[in-house]
Amino acid sequence: MSDDAEHRRLVIAGSGIAGLSAAIYAARSNNDPLVLEGPEPGGQLTLTTDVANYPGFPEGIGGPELIQDMKAQAEQFGTEIDTGVIVDVDPGTPHRIELRDGTVYTADALIAASGASARTLGVPGEDELMGYGVSTCATCDGAFFRDEDMIVVGGGDAACEEAAFLTKFADTVSIVHRREEFRAEDYWVDRVRELESEGDVEVLTNTELLEIDGSPEEGVESVTLARNPEGHPTEKLDDSDTERFEMDVGAVFMAIGHTPNTDYLQDTGVELDDAGYLETVGGSGGGQTRTGVEGIFGAGDVVDFHYQQAITAGGMGSKAAIDADAYLEDLEREAEGTADPAAADD
Ligand code: NAP
Repeated sequence: MSDDAEHRRLVIAGSGIAGLSAAIYAARSNNDPLVLEGPEPGGQLTLTTDVANYPGFPEGIGGPELIQDMKAQAEQFGTEIDTGVIVDVDPGTPHRIELRDGTVYTADALIAASGASARTLGVPGEDELMGYGVSTCATCDGAFFRDEDMIVVGGGDAACEEAAFLTKFADTVSIVHRREEFRAEDYWVDRVRELESEGDVEVLTNTELLEIDGSPEEGVESVTLARNPEGHPTEKLDDSDTERFEMDVGAVFMAIGHTPNTDYLQDTGVELDDAGYLETVGGSGGGQTRTGVEGIFGAGDVVDFHYQQAITAGGMGSKAAIDADAYLEDLEREAEGTADPAAADD
């Protein structure tokens, strides 16, 4: 263990809504939290424009503004927020937490609230128009594109669910999926086929999105697609079998999955599922935030791939802070030799 490591009572990895909610609760419980902001400070909410479904804001609130306010609230109660990408955690009492820049902390407890990053395609126009018609969250942004023609890229549950959701607002919704077969569960495929037969959704399989055109001022105006009879994967897209075509659309929703930010937990003994999501005791959503490793807790999208909402991530962050507080108090009692025997049965 490094001699010059700064010791902290509680480190929170991630400054999205889960991490900041945890920080507000932890600071108010005198647990002196240090929030480490990673490469996407503020998390996915900072990628959205207006958040219209967060309770308490009848006029809606900007995602970045909500995060700024939460940061201020966390700091007001004594949270310290610093930049730092955790690259390794050596679990123990205390945990040893190493950052990319070589800084080392020790901490009695760690709340992993490092989120999941929405995957993007990397096609021209995507970065430039993100937030201006390109979105990774139909639930958050769909209503802003009322009466527009929209496409949803992907063939999993999220793409199908988002397409069904968008039919409430859109003039037309087209699902663009790179394969013939959907990855989504039968329920969602049946639902999409039903919407297709009713004329509410168009399904474009074996089709890939090549480019998004528009400008931040005008928003998304059109996309270039390629239909490939061979489907994915092939060497494709520049051979003569590939049919390219343009489509006028006002919004593009990426639903090609998320990647949980859990690399730094790989060697901790914390359970990760096949996709890398952190497994807490009792599962996602209503479950607890404890992991199988003492003193490591998880909250928000890093655990919960199902709900993925600001309100659910925030709720889970507050639960993680409460669970961590109970753990820290037990730890103190143990150190003082006054451990509560009932706590050992929990
Ligand atoms: P997913 O199941 O991993 O599906 C991602 C989809 O995006 C796949 O169809 C994949 O195509 C496509 N894709 C990935 N990379 C691509 C690329 N570079 N270009 C084009 N297409 C690409 O992700 P998800 O739909 O977000 O679901 C994640 C998890 O959340 C799943 O366990 C799901 O069951 C759960 N979920 C559940 C619900 C629900 O039940 N209501 C809703 C949302 C999510 P391929 O098929 O060709 O690989």
